[in-house]
Amino acid sequence: MDEWIVRQKIRIPFRYTAGRAISRFLLGLAERRIWATRCEGCGRVYVPPLGFCGRCWREIAEWLELSDEGELVSYTVRPAKPPEIFGLIRLDGADSHLVHRLGEVEPTELERVVRVRAVWREDRTGSILDIAYFAPVRSKSLT
Ligand SMILES: [Zn+2]
Repeated sequence: MDEWIVRQKIRIPFRYTAGRAISRFLLGLAERRIWATRCEGCGRVYVPPLGFCGRCWREIAEWLELSDEGELVSYTVRPAKPPEIFGLIRLDGADSHLVHRLGEVEPTELERVVRVRAVWREDRTGSILDIAYFAPVRSKSLT
């Protein structure tokens, strides 16, 4: 006997906890604050924050707040209309990187962008998208 194949899509709603470290990070974003953790073993500052250092194999309990400005380390452009630009950003004082959208910049200008700052949404909800995008910190060469 052949088996009958039923083709359909099922919707499975679910919720999960963001965890201790990411919860504090996301709630901080709603207040325009960027929370990071510092490993007491190696001294590395993680943002998004980690609750456990995989290098030292120990829990991390130290919190610090970072500025919303940092260095653009790398980027990629998704060819769309308009192009979507994603940046690899190291906030001042951090040893890790954030990936986020870049805005207020054209792809042709990216080679000259060194510093970026967060552009915050007015209606923040505790999401990584509370930062709308990172924009170049303009120097005279870009204006
Ligand atoms: Zn460590």
